[in-house]
Order: sequence, then structure tokens, then C-alpha cells
Amino acid sequence: MTIGILALQGAFAEHAHVLGKLGVPHFEIRQKKDMEREFDGLILPGGESTVMGKLLRTSELFDPVREKILSGMPVFGTCAGLILLAKEVEDDISHLATMDICVKRNAYGRQLGSFYTEETFQGLGMIPMTFIRAPYITSVSGDTEILAEVEGRIVAAREGNQLVTAFHPELNESLKVHEYFLNMI
Ligand code: GLN
Repeated sequence: MTIGILALQGAFAEHAHVLGKLGVPHFEIRQKKDMEREFDGLILPGGESTVMGKLLRTSELFDPVREKILSGMPVFGTCAGLILLAKEVEDDISHLATMDICVKRNAYGRQLGSFYTEETFQGLGMIPMTFIRAPYITSVSGDTEILAEVEGRIVAAREGNQLVTAFHPELNESLKVHEYFLNMI
């Protein structure tokens, strides 16, 4: 099994580190030709969704990445990666728009933008959750399943081959969410 990590901007190295700990082969996706390699799952990291959205378009990765996801490739979007997948982004444009979720960016305000908590994640029990200027999911539709909530706000969800978290599992010691993703493959 090999995982491709979108490495245009943001926290891609941290995901590579977790996959290294799990002994899972992985490589960085920076340009169109990287999408021609063989891989089984895709990670869209945290960072700045507006910047990543622009870079996806200018690097001509937008269409190949979107097609892979629509053809069923398992994808895991964290934070900005979640925003990239959302069909609807409140007060902003959408990007890959493959997942039936509506999200609000920087949804916790400037002061409370970053925080740590522990909550239950469906099937995984309590897990650590680090939020950094995070979005949350304001609504889900279609076949989307809610996997975690923090104070009544949806922070993790899955729709078929697509998994998203508003928090950053790659920044904590727990490997559980990455293992969950690998089990989807
Ligand atoms: N605030 C960022 C955005 O809107 C997301 C933050 C993150 O990925 N840590 O894209």
C-alpha cells in the first residue's frame, strides 16, 4: 500500500512522519506527473485552503486529484484539506467539492482559533484533538456519516471513500485516525 500526500503547502511533512511510524510507504504530490504514479490513498493536509486551492489550479493538479477522488480513491482531508473537499464553504468559494458537507472556515474565531481537547471518535474511543484556526462542519447531507463532535459541532465525518477531520491527528501521538484511514483502503 502506498499513500500520496499533497505537498503544495501546509502540514504535509507531519503526515509523512506518521505514515513513517506506521511503516506505510508514501510520497509527495507536487506536480501533475506525480499523479501518474501508482498509489492507493491520498492525504490532503492542513494549511491554508485558499492558497492550496490556488496552487491546485495553477499546478494543474486540480482535475487529476478531483478525478481520482470521484473514481473512488480513498482520501483523508485534515483541516484545510477538509475545506478543499467540501461541496459548500460558507462565505467563500468551494474547491474540489466532492463531499456532501457544508463548512465554515476559521469557525472558532480569532481568539479561540487554536485549542486542544479529547473527544470520542466513532469506533475509536477517546482521541486527542488539536485544532488550529479550524473549520467545523455546519451540516452534512447525502451518505455522510458524522464521526465526531466537539460541543455539538461536527469535527469529523466520512462519506464513502472520503474521510475528513477539522483537527490535526498528525500533530498528536495517537495513530488511531491514520489507522482508521488506512483501514478504508
Ligand atoms: N484556517 C485554515 C483555512 O481556512 C485552515 C487551518 C488549518 O488547516 N490548520 O484554510
